[in-house]
Amino acid sequence: MIAEIQGLHHVTSLASDAARNNAFFTDVLGLRRVKKTVNFDAPDVYHLYYGDGVGSPGSVMTYFPFPNAVRGRAGTGEVGTTVFAVPQGALGFWQDRLAEKSVQNLELTTRFGERRLHFTGPDGDDFALVEVAKDGRAPWTGGGVPEGHAILGFHSTSLRLADGGAEAELLRFMGYQKQDAAQGVDRYLRENGNGAHVLDLEIDPSTAQSQPGAGSVHHVAFAVENRAAQLEVRRALMDTGYAVTPVIDRNYFWAIYFRTPGGILFEVATNEPGFDHDEDTAHLGQALKLPHQHEHLRDHLLDSLQPLDN
Ligand code: ZN
Repeated sequence: MIAEIQGLHHVTSLASDAARNNAFFTDVLGLRRVKKTVNFDAPDVYHLYYGDGVGSPGSVMTYFPFPNAVRGRAGTGEVGTTVFAVPQGALGFWQDRLAEKSVQNLELTTRFGERRLHFTGPDGDDFALVEVAKDGRAPWTGGGVPEGHAILGFHSTSLRLADGGAEAELLRFMGYQKQDAAQGVDRYLRENGNGAHVLDLEIDPSTAQSQPGAGSVHHVAFAVENRAAQLEVRRALMDTGYAVTPVIDRNYFWAIYFRTPGGILFEVATNEPGFDHDEDTAHLGQALKLPHQHEHLRDHLLDSLQPLDN
């Protein structure tokens, strides 16, 4: 069994409009944009990162905004709801705030005894906030949401599958243990994780396969401390038969990728070196940062990328 995985590192989704995406995560959800860069594999497209004050692993929601991308269709074989943790008692505040800002599809529910507020993002992205009693993480408070209510990081994501057997086996191999089950959902937990260490398996054989597009999650990344731990995880996965990519330098972390039995793209990303290694913490996310291989495109990109308000 793999012991190195600490919980989620980041979740990466597709969007159709960079400025609208940026406004939603900074002005509505009150997260900090911790990096403004480009998709290293398609540099004409932004890669925008939103999280806590420093972009701690387990807090970082990232987007590839492809202008005018067609909306995805929800279904199986994808990440379903991405859930953020907020302090106990904060949901009333969020219900008022999201309604006032015309956020769509607000719905209060309870799952495994936790109160959660569902809502959708600008591209129909499936989100929820859940109240968490004990969470030692510190939120970003520069986004206009009071500290007692602000988002602490991820709580969980759900994986929507037609058949959960092989996926559950993978999660156990990755160090997660089944904690509970109710209403077609199996909850898995990584003991002593980084705060973002819950995964819900939603099994529904009657639902059609998802179709990726704007509002869909592209991949979900799990956190390991460093490159040595990542190599251990890579070896363990490959010994079990998974086809894992070589280690790829993403400037702010190192990444490996593999596809799960249910068809979801998983990444394992290092906590090092972090988002403050190429700009100071006070100005994180403001300047356009480019990896050295795309630095020669800077003038073209400054012309062609959609300007962001802040
Ligand atoms: Zn990633």
